[in-house]
Amino acid sequence: MNTAQGKWIWMDGKWVAWADARIHILSHVVHYGTSVFEGIRCYDHPQLGPSVFRLQDHLRRLYDSARIYRMEIKYPFEELEKVHCEAVVKNELGACYLRPVVYRGFDNLGVNPFGKPVEVAVAAFPWGKYLGPESIEKGVDVCVSSWRRTGPQTTPGMSKAGGHYMNGQLMKMEAVVNGYAEGIALDTQGFLSEGSGENVFLVHKGILYTPSTSSSILVGITRDSTLTLARELGIEVREQALPRDMLYLADEVFFSGTAVEITPIVSVDRIAVGSGQRGPVTKALQDAFFGVLDGRRPDRYGWLTPVAGKNPAEKAGATSAARATVTPVPAGGGTRSTREAE
Ligand code: PMP
Repeated sequence: MNTAQGKWIWMDGKWVAWADARIHILSHVVHYGTSVFEGIRCYDHPQLGPSVFRLQDHLRRLYDSARIYRMEIKYPFEELEKVHCEAVVKNELGACYLRPVVYRGFDNLGVNPFGKPVEVAVAAFPWGKYLGPESIEKGVDVCVSSWRRTGPQTTPGMSKAGGHYMNGQLMKMEAVVNGYAEGIALDTQGFLSEGSGENVFLVHKGILYTPSTSSSILVGITRDSTLTLARELGIEVREQALPRDMLYLADEVFFSGTAVEITPIVSVDRIAVGSGQRGPVTKALQDAFFGVLDGRRPDRYGWLTPVAGKNPAEKAGATSAARATVTPVPAGGGTRSTREAE
């Protein structure tokens, strides 16, 4: 993973130099993991210029994550939307990664988060392929983790909260020390859940399966994009509880996520997946996905927001429909979407 530095980070309304973007050591977030965040990619589109992928959907999830943890984001949706576009321009970036984080800052110590200020920062920096430069084509080797995802009665999986990633770190470290790129966790019932930072898909007898929202997954935006593209390609998709066994019997397995995009999995617990190479369904979905991002295919769903504000899809009304459904919630929730997941 190659995390290069950016130049400027937006912190509560101010652009702060990368090296000066600091918070107090006694901030609530440092001790109790009190943050919600997003990982967002911007692509260098040949016609549109640098364009953020599904920016509105990521921001909607950020406000939703904060809402679950009773954190009131003091900035309107549209302002944060602009800040993200500005972050790309101000840092003189093309393709890059954007990291908004909402966190509770310093007041005094104690678990009770009420009264601790809710602060917001947005960083942008260059970022390559999460699981290595060759992973998109060659795929990765993974294991089933001995750690389970937390149950729905323990932590709210639909909130992308910093503290939840302690569980993900245990999965990741176990995988790495045992020589795997990543681990896949089961849910508390023993059904497939997800990777430490990815959703998981498998292909079995021509049908595309992925664990449903009841398996303690983060409802990934790349997962949704993958399901949308699969339907467009005429592939039957099923969101359901999946036994671990399916990982070993599947013809193809792959990860989806902002960081990994669509990455083939070529072995699970040292058992080859299918032929041990990227399969045809995975390849077709990658072509469809990357095609939208590199301009080979039209942006049919208004997924791209050009940072320079020159989105032809928007002019044609494709994204304004999605925007129009983001309605302000006056009582402490920032904004909230009434649109169903695609
Ligand atoms: N699950 C977890 C635990 C994640 O951290 C991520 C990355 N945000 C995903 C799934 C994939 O979500 P997305 O496609 O929205 O990046």
